[in-house]
Amino acid sequence: MIGLKKITPYVAGEQPKLSKMIKINTNENAFPPSPKVLATLKEFDGDQLRLYSSLENENLTSALSKKLGISSDCITTGNGSDDVLALAFQSFFNSEYPVVFPDITYGFYTVWCELFDIPYMEIPLDDDFHPDFTKIPEKIGGIVLANPNAPTGIVQPLSKIEELLQCHPNVVVIVDEAYIEFGGKSAVALLDKYENLYITRTFSKDASLAGLRVGYGVGNKRLTEVIKAVKNAYNPYSVDQLAEALALAATQDSDYYREMNGKIIETREWLSKEVTRIGFNVLPSATNFILAEHERVPAGEIFDFLRENHVFVRYFPNKERIANFLRISIGTREEMEVVLKLLSEFVKKIEIQEQ
Ligand code: PMP
Repeated sequence: MIGLKKITPYVAGEQPKLSKMIKINTNENAFPPSPKVLATLKEFDGDQLRLYSSLENENLTSALSKKLGISSDCITTGNGSDDVLALAFQSFFNSEYPVVFPDITYGFYTVWCELFDIPYMEIPLDDDFHPDFTKIPEKIGGIVLANPNAPTGIVQPLSKIEELLQCHPNVVVIVDEAYIEFGGKSAVALLDKYENLYITRTFSKDASLAGLRVGYGVGNKRLTEVIKAVKNAYNPYSVDQLAEALALAATQDSDYYREMNGKIIETREWLSKEVTRIGFNVLPSATNFILAEHERVPAGEIFDFLRENHVFVRYFPNKERIANFLRISIGTREEMEVVLKLLSEFVKKIEIQEQ
């Protein structure tokens, strides 16, 4: 057949459908969405669905504009931040020079570069899993930085982001803030100062709405005009009416989310300490997951053992540098106690076998 696209797709974490399981493989939030979101869902007037959603999602963008202290003209909504990121890649990366991102980061970046024929270059993370910005060549087509990074969980301070923005003023720097509410400072504070900054955010993680698919991007008016033009050349109504209403309700319940996400951070710190005690090396995480490697027990064996016990985590056997690490999303404290117990039992069993 002539004309068929050849592309290696992004491989998402599996979505098993067991009635009893601990699903900590795709960094979903451990808690339900806010009660205000659920009430809005119940009260939603289905008759409205006859109509298309508003082109600019004005209700949602104006609530976000108030919350973030930026103009509505600077916000573009999308079907999850994956959608906004894909639009941003197409909108901002059209030069002959490579777009740069770390070699260990969100797997979709290489996929979009391949899909949209964008040249790219991966910069190796240093021994502590931090990006070495001095390795960025002079002539580049743009920069993408997940902050905090995934799947390492490691966050960069705003001073590092500023350094990047200052050193590369002629290209767009995309900062992917999917996990920013679990640690770290948002680069939104830098928007007034740097016209080459574009930030993407999502309701999937900190607002516990992964299944709703709503994300947004923020940048100055010039960048927003370009990304909106690309969005409108492709799928203008990507955030539907129901999704907009529910995301709006989530935006209006910061107190609930602060409390739930605070619990996740607490559980993350507790789990990191506990698994360190049983021989894991845990990278310092500012997200709702940890990346951890056991000193003696191979990740694949732990992964299989957990799976047999209906605990689903993620690991990346094809990524050499982190092939022996497990990525564990932070569930509720009760779930993580079960996981810790299983991990302790398995590690002990392997250690006894080795004696
Ligand atoms: N960026 C990063 C770093 C992620 O891990 C994810 C979630 N897989 C996304 C963006 C996209 O999330 P969503 O499309 O659900 O907003």
